[in-house]
Amino acid sequence: MLQQTRVAQAIPYYFRFLAAFPTVFDLANAPLDDVLKQWEGLGYYSRARSLHHAAKEIVEKHEGVFPKNPADALALKGVGAYTQAAVLSIAYGITLAALDGNVIRVLSRWFCFEEDVKDPKNRKKLQNLADEVLFAADASSWNQAMMELGATVCSPKNPKCELCPVSQNCMAFLEDKVKEYPKSKKKAPIPHQQIAVAVIQNQDGKYLINRRPDKGLLGGLWEFPGGKQEEGEALEETCIRETREEMGVQIEVLHKIVEVNHAFTHFKITLHAFACVLVDGEAKSTNGEPHWWIEASKFDAFAFPKANIEVIKAIREGRQQLTLF
Ligand code: SF4
Repeated sequence: MLQQTRVAQAIPYYFRFLAAFPTVFDLANAPLDDVLKQWEGLGYYSRARSLHHAAKEIVEKHEGVFPKNPADALALKGVGAYTQAAVLSIAYGITLAALDGNVIRVLSRWFCFEEDVKDPKNRKKLQNLADEVLFAADASSWNQAMMELGATVCSPKNPKCELCPVSQNCMAFLEDKVKEYPKSKKKAPIPHQQIAVAVIQNQDGKYLINRRPDKGLLGGLWEFPGGKQEEGEALEETCIRETREEMGVQIEVLHKIVEVNHAFTHFKITLHAFACVLVDGEAKSTNGEPHWWIEASKFDAFAFPKANIEVIKAIREGRQQLTLF
């Protein structure tokens, strides 16, 4: 949970998750849908799928105990160098230096690291620096201290150098160049996609939802049919085309229900949800994934991406048109 989410935000999810899956065996045996449901709202759903997969591996290959061997830990799905070092040093006292965003910022200032810290090619050099300064006698405390130093003292803006325990060795501080680090190239503008989705009700008042394929963005989650607007297309046309392509049905768009803005790591979306009715055809996912017609009261039984949850809220509140930010 902490790979992409702040601690304060993750805490309620953490306890909810542990209550649902108290042991690694419970997690390994749970259906993926239940795991995604518990993860709902945290985003980056591939982490939940990896965690579920790793739990199965831990049960099958390691008798339900997180492996101590660094190579075995790294082989678990979703475990990279950072998670490997953080878990093994903190849980088992193994001498590995954890390198997260906070630690990278500290090191880049401490050693005036001149290269782009965001460039994956420089990861090895940063890891070497982290390994060099690691206090091998207590890697657990050291890693926690470094992460905490970055999070609380050596913050991105206005670091509190006067409180910092490494200030007497910090090259950026001694040379009065703290503001110049970490170095990173200007980011390319983030693409912004317009998405139109169809909230289709049938004669029984039920809504059509379909499941995304397991692989890829938001894999395994449920959603209203829809997709990306193409050039020169009105959003209503996108909604009709996407629903025809995805579900093989013809719909009529009645009116907009809600607009939702949402940011992913590498792009942003504005999701436009339209109230629609079925005009022709029988719904069937063209990609072979399951679909359901469900009552509004049943939405909570399925895991939806965040933007879709806002659409559900709007449906339940009977809103006709509103912009959410
Ligand atoms: Fe960061 Fe300042 Fe400490 Fe250097 S002295 S590590 S810049 S807080």
